[in-house]
Amino acid sequence: MDFSTYLKDYPSKDGYFGKFGGAYLPEHLVPAMEEIANAYLTICHSSQFISELRRIRKEFQGRPTPVYHCERLSRKIGNCQIYLKREDLNHSGAHKLNHCMGEGLLAKFMGKKRIIAETGAGQHGVALATAAAFFGLDCTIYMGAVDVAKQAPNVARMKVLGAEVVSVQDGQKTLKEAVDAAFQDYSKNYKDTIYCIGSAVGPHPFPMMVRDFQMVVGQEAREQFKEMMGFLPDVVTACVGGGSNSIGMFLPFVNDPVEIVGVEPLGRGKEIGDNAATMTYGEEGVMHGFNSIMLKNSDGEPAPVYSIASGLDYQSVGPEHAFLRDSGRIKYDTATDEEAVNAFFKLSRYEGIIPALESSHAVAYAIRRAKEMGQGSILVNLSGRGDKDLDYVIEKYGFGEKFKDF
Ligand SMILES: *Cc1c(COP(=O)(O)O)cnc(C)c1O
Repeated sequence: MDFSTYLKDYPSKDGYFGKFGGAYLPEHLVPAMEEIANAYLTICHSSQFISELRRIRKEFQGRPTPVYHCERLSRKIGNCQIYLKREDLNHSGAHKLNHCMGEGLLAKFMGKKRIIAETGAGQHGVALATAAAFFGLDCTIYMGAVDVAKQAPNVARMKVLGAEVVSVQDGQKTLKEAVDAAFQDYSKNYKDTIYCIGSAVGPHPFPMMVRDFQMVVGQEAREQFKEMMGFLPDVVTACVGGGSNSIGMFLPFVNDPVEIVGVEPLGRGKEIGDNAATMTYGEEGVMHGFNSIMLKNSDGEPAPVYSIASGLDYQSVGPEHAFLRDSGRIKYDTATDEEAVNAFFKLSRYEGIIPALESSHAVAYAIRRAKEMGQGSILVNLSGRGDKDLDYVIEKYGFGEKFKDF
């Protein structure tokens, strides 16, 4: 496949990346999604939108975030050099604000008064509530009652930022029910509301829009690395949940002679319900309004998934990832809970950077690859900071005594 015109060619007009993507929606929501798609395709090219987004990124989010050379960590491993794109330094502590600010600005340009979303662990809810506060939009976040009880600090953050948090009492009371409740709200209120999906998933145009807003990560990183080193890295890697931080990091390198690797969570192991390694164990299927690769149980229903990183436990994956895997351009690998926690402590201890458990999966892969390669360079997208994970990690693993040695 020729990647020199990739971004022009994909997705197709109706939101397909090959056979993946599309918009599988109840009939009454079709016009609402088309309205968003059409508005986005016009507005995103306007100089007013572009310059406003640029100003927000610089003055509010603190972009560009730096690229950092992990000298001590690399030396401990050998001669291969590990670099981090520091999305943990993006305002609110992760990459998610990149697409939330874009979606908020789009809502503003479209004259919408309200943005809504689902959230699992609360990270997407906090990022969207931040955008809503910035733009003066009303904000409702749907969250399963079980998650509301588990994630008190993020619930408090959303409320302080002015969002309404709705505790969803249906079914298992977790992410899936929160998505259903948000879709119900949206189908009643789409005239003045946008449903901002939390990753590069969902019906068209969301995988495209979220990717476009996240590409700032890879564009910056590519320029910064080239300026530091005079060449490009050998390997670029990022963790993959729904696939937003990774697709944003990867695409600017898609036409370069660079190996690209997405890292999914292998959790406790390979049994159904013990991981969320969609690319390794999944098959083609439709859920949440798009066709992609997904993890199914024996009845063909979405399987239960698990990862120590709650931002990675999703049954499916962005359709563009499924397409780029089939094309052979991007490879997918896995890291277990243990490997991620090991990387969490190593990066903390040797570099003074406490990574999110999600991001720790990409760091774990980089550590493994650096040992194998013995030379060259690996650029990792450090998607977020790990303050949110400290209590849980300490309770389960203490202060990492067993992860001291290389
Ligand atoms: C939500 C989250 C992820 C996973 O989401 P993607 O859409 O796959 O990027 C990764 N890292 C952090 C820090 C997150 O908060």
